[in-house]
Amino acid sequence: MKTHTAPAGQRHACVIGAGIVGAATAQALAERGWRVTLVDAQPQAGRGESLGNGAQLSYSYVEPLATPDALKNLPKWLLSPTSPLRWRPQPRLGHARWLSEFIAACQWPTVRRTSEQLLALAAESRHTLHRWLAAQPGRAEATRHTRPGKLVIYRKPEALAGVQRQIDWQRAWGCEQAIVGADEVKRLEPALAATGGGPIAFGVWTASEEVIDAARLAVLLAESSGATLRLGQRVTALQRDAAGRVVACLLAPADAAAGQAAERLEADAFVLAAGPATLQLLRPLGGRPPIEPIKGYSVSLPIVDDGAAPRVSITDNGRKLVHARLGDRLRVAGFAELIGMNRELPPRRIEALCQAVRETFPGACRFDDVQPWTGLRPATPSGRPQVGPTRWPGLWLNAGHGALGLTLACGSASLLADLMAGETPPLNPEPFRVTA
Ligand SMILES: Cc1cc2nc3c(=O)[nH]c(=O)nc-3n(C[C@H](O)[C@H](O)[C@H](O)COP(=O)(O)OP(=O)(O)OC[C@H]3O[C@@H](n4cnc5c(N)ncnc54)[C@H](O)[C@@H]3O)c2cc1C
Repeated sequence: MKTHTAPAGQRHACVIGAGIVGAATAQALAERGWRVTLVDAQPQAGRGESLGNGAQLSYSYVEPLATPDALKNLPKWLLSPTSPLRWRPQPRLGHARWLSEFIAACQWPTVRRTSEQLLALAAESRHTLHRWLAAQPGRAEATRHTRPGKLVIYRKPEALAGVQRQIDWQRAWGCEQAIVGADEVKRLEPALAATGGGPIAFGVWTASEEVIDAARLAVLLAESSGATLRLGQRVTALQRDAAGRVVACLLAPADAAAGQAAERLEADAFVLAAGPATLQLLRPLGGRPPIEPIKGYSVSLPIVDDGAAPRVSITDNGRKLVHARLGDRLRVAGFAELIGMNRELPPRRIEALCQAVRETFPGACRFDDVQPWTGLRPATPSGRPQVGPTRWPGLWLNAGHGALGLTLACGSASLLADLMAGETPPLNPEPFRVTA
């Protein structure tokens, strides 16, 4: 077994997982003077749950999934065959605990408190991302970063009062959003003039919302961090010394047969940023982070009629779908299925996404070159990621970003790197404390 150690003098951090969260963590640590090794089982950064995501930097849309409305609608959603939600009960204590914590979080005071905490983290994330993109010309283009603004469209007029309340409340937290009528919706996004699926009642316009290609951003951050990249390498175990400190991890080529000799990688600190796989890596230590995979789908479709495809980032509230233009393709993402670590791509889900595009933006896309994708959102019951030290000295966590991993990655990376450097972060780390 080979053993790698860091050169004397510089602290060495090993980040496990080069998804958007791990790649951002590598960048934030390198900035603070750490020597970083970034490990991933995939051959490239950003290939996990970040690869085909909705591409939304949703800085003003951080309300958690657990709300009283979600709880009220749950029976209806679960019984409908076309519902955007699906749940398959699993005979695991961790699953039952996650569900009971999710239900407990479905109260307005909790939703408000969590939203405030996530808005603060999102603001830090935007600030950090902008700084990193501005560090070198060409980075915005390379990552397809744009600020098209976001329009959330509603087809049910009765939703207006609740939406207005939410916007008024968010204004106090610096979110500049406006309710706009159906005519203004079509002026802001002319491609919606021909939309099917019922008349639009109103929309919410947030001019400051952004879009970025998560996979490209992960590659950029992994490379620009200067980290030693150990791609195609799977971490098979974390090792502790006699005092219980995590001092090494075992690596094996991702395609290695079970039992093949592993390499031992030592570091001063380890960061677990393994998305939904975080649970598997912590289980041998006795850790049970409350992270469940919530499955979603996307399709990326070639745009054939520029004027018929949206330029603005569109969220269809009724269908719970997001649409973003990435280069010459339209990315549409949605669905939330609590069915375990399942990566099947059922044709009916892909067809449902394609059908939604046909109806919402008729004539905009071709359907003979669909890029289908599925990913597992690593979700905590509260919607807050877990960022900070674990109860095992030497081991830190940055995981559980759920539906907002791209939006929150740079902020949580910066928060974690501050904590690891012993510096006071610009936001309160307590809400993101690790409970594993
Ligand atoms: C359909 C869908 C749409 C979404 N849309 C958005 C959106 O619009 N905006 C937004 O903010 N968020 C969105 N999300 C959420 C976002 O994609 C996730 O929160 C985010 O990708 C999580 O990033 P991560 O780095 O934690 O996990 P990952 O990207 O999965 O990274 C974890 C990495 O760890 C690696 N790994 C795991 N185990 C090991 C091991 N043992 N050894 C080595 N490597 C290992 C994996 O290979 C992987 O690359 C969406 C998610 C889905 C599914």
